Amino acid sequence: MIELKELAYCSRCGKLFVKTGNSTLCPDCQKIEDEEFSKVEAYLWEHPNSSISEVSEKTDVKEKIILKFIREGRIVNKSSTSTYPCKRCGKPITHGEYCDECLAELRKESLRAKKELMDKVKRDRMYIKYEKKKGKK
Ligand SMILES: [Zn+2]
Ligand SMILES: [Zn+2]
Repeated sequence: MIELKELAYCSRCGKLFVKTGNSTLCPDCQKIEDEEFSKVEAYLWEHPNSSISEVSEKTDVKEKIILKFIREGRIVNKSSTSTYPCKRCGKPITHGEYCDECLAELRKESLRAKKELMDKVKRDRMYIKYEKKKGKK
């Protein structure tokens, strides 16, 4: 009996190849793409914040391939994933200092703090700041 292996057409050169893992590339193209990735990676290492067209021009790697790297999450594209952690819970956010939940929570907290301060003021005893001048009229 012949062992049935999954065959696929390489998404790059169109050649029929035996699929191993999730790759949609034939071994040859996979090798080329790995090399291209190293080039892009090296370029971005020295020139962070470069645009796709710049990188493509400097590394001779097609923009389509670079976009693929971005889609695969191998390269981070600022406009698609400009997130940073929320100061309070660490959840990724795209604007401000806190995520929406923490913002709502913080608002509640600051309202409570204000109310507590007011309550304290009401409870505290009062006195006149300046001493009364004695004796003189
Ligand atoms: Zn191929
Ligand atoms: Zn948060």
